[in-house]
Amino acid sequence: MTDNTYDLSCDCGHVTMRAHGAPELSLYCHCGSCRDMYSVDMLSATGWADDNVELPEESAMFTYAVPGKQMKRFGCPKCGMIMYGRHKPGIPVIPHGVFRKANGGRLPAELAPTLHLFYRERVLDVQDDLPKSEGGEAIGLDG
Ligand SMILES: [Zn+2]
Ligand SMILES: [Zn+2]
Repeated sequence: MTDNTYDLSCDCGHVTMRAHGAPELSLYCHCGSCRDMYSVDMLSATGWADDNVELPEESAMFTYAVPGKQMKRFGCPKCGMIMYGRHKPGIPVIPHGVFRKANGGRLPAELAPTLHLFYRERVLDVQDDLPKSEGGEAIGLDG
């Protein structure tokens, strides 16, 4: 058990939230859904148990449910920064960038990603030593 606490904030400071302890997972996801939802070539993010995050009231956030998918993103209504998302498994997914912002531009070492997910859907090849799961099997997802 770790007792790390991460105080997180959007660009403008209007939205704050907190994560504590250790994430359930930290990874790069190359799937088309994540790329679409976050407008990135791959998502670099952590997933947390609900008990380990203190999230703002939904009514205080900008929210958007992606049509036809069980995915929703939550952001600041003032500056537009995406703070977290909820994906099919349901746990809050907080991008690494949100942690970098709170930590002087660096990802806290204990949050380093451990694998690539849905690597077969990639638009970018990555040469590193992390395991590459072609689909979602590495974390128990179908496909
Ligand atoms: Zn903001
Ligand atoms: Zn994904």
